[in-house]
Amino acid sequence: MNIAVIGSGYVGLVSGTCFAEMGNKVTCVDIDQNKIQKLEQGIIPIFEPGLEQMVLKNVKNNNLFFTTQLGEAISDAEIVFIAVGTPMGDDGSADLQYVLAVAKSIGETMGKRLIVVDKSTVPIGTADKVKATIQSELDKRGENIEFHVVSNPEFLKEGAAIDDFMKPDRVVIGSDSDYAFDKMKQLYSPFFRTHDRFITMDIRSAEMTKYAANTMLATKISFMNEIANICERVGADANKVRIGIGSDKRIGYSFIYPGAGYGGSCFPKDVKALKKIAEENGYKANLIESVENVNDAQKLVIANKIVKRFGEDLTGFTFGLWGLAFKPGTDDMREAPAIYIVKELEKRGAKVNAYDPKAIEESKEFYLKDAKNIKYCNSKYEVLQGADALILLTEWKEFRSPDFEEIKTQLKLPIIFDGRNQYNAFNLGDNGFEYFQIGK
Ligand code: NAD
Repeated sequence: MNIAVIGSGYVGLVSGTCFAEMGNKVTCVDIDQNKIQKLEQGIIPIFEPGLEQMVLKNVKNNNLFFTTQLGEAISDAEIVFIAVGTPMGDDGSADLQYVLAVAKSIGETMGKRLIVVDKSTVPIGTADKVKATIQSELDKRGENIEFHVVSNPEFLKEGAAIDDFMKPDRVVIGSDSDYAFDKMKQLYSPFFRTHDRFITMDIRSAEMTKYAANTMLATKISFMNEIANICERVGADANKVRIGIGSDKRIGYSFIYPGAGYGGSCFPKDVKALKKIAEENGYKANLIESVENVNDAQKLVIANKIVKRFGEDLTGFTFGLWGLAFKPGTDDMREAPAIYIVKELEKRGAKVNAYDPKAIEESKEFYLKDAKNIKYCNSKYEVLQGADALILLTEWKEFRSPDFEEIKTQLKLPIIFDGRNQYNAFNLGDNGFEYFQIGK
């Protein structure tokens, strides 16, 4: 099939590349000229395991193309995906300006029958707005061209995006057109090798499914963090409680790790957007509001432990920081707990030595560009030089089993604040460390 993907970020670039991998002709579009130029030169603007090789292979095979010209990309396409950002607006709702700008461009330029797929995470009712926007442009042009708007929310996880896309748990398609259902099924059927995981429904339910999924996962995280905070106060160990409850199949082990709070480009904004959607429709979503409040507080739990140990005024102290990205396997720092902790430490007069295998450039250029007391290091052990204590915030593999003797020798004080409970099994307390974790 001939496909266009509008927006070449984490979702657009991965989806487009995976569709190309299955033999489709895919053109990825972005308004960011710099991004497209890089992609044309074979430089991948984001870090995602396995993506670079797959992009290069499909470009070489003439299955994957890049352009800034939307009209050119959709001229031969049967299906166009909208995969632009839907960031949090000032009032917490999803900002639809990019999605609707793309819809307008599609209406202005389309020349033949087209399926328009909302892959971006969008509030319920957005497909109607996309449809109206396209129709209005066609009316202005005096054109009568058939098109179908479909909702196909994306569930990939950054850090495992290629795998998630190539072997999806499910593909949700919301549509009111049999033609669109058939075409979408043809497009996705190569991704189901064992059995069909194609779930069809009406458009609004598909749009809601994405928000419900992300909010459910965020709820599990906030629930466990709340349990961890109670554990700390009653002398229980959240690591053991996690195993105790996860063994119940109805609960499961995933997403119940106590930690420094959820971040990333999706959970914070989608939880907030769903709360706003409820509010706009006359319903106060108390549980969702609490999920958010627990997470906001959780992002500072490690900073609070540091203050409890070192005092309110941290002037003269330096903290080594392992991990800036919001999770391992990505360079994405959107809403990462590291942003909040570095700012809090800096506000209290402390300095930070930071290292992350992939996110240092993001941090320097965007998320902590105003931080004055942060020094970026080239390795995890360089971070320790001159530092009073170590903080772990992202559980990258290279941090999981470090040389604790080296840590002890390098740090001024043998103190570790573990925001991901990675070193729980190492009996650090018996080995001369002061070890602070979440929920114990
Ligand atoms: P992103 O910011 O990485 O990429 C969006 C891209 O769209 C940018 O490159 C931007 O330049 C481009 N863009 C903006 N306006 C454009 C226009 N008019 N024409 C062409 N390109 C344009 O965003 P992302 O993380 O890929 O997320 C995209 C959507 O997918 C969001 O709604 C997000 O909530 C959803 N989503 C994201 C993830 C994830 O893990 N990142 C997972 C599932 C769903």
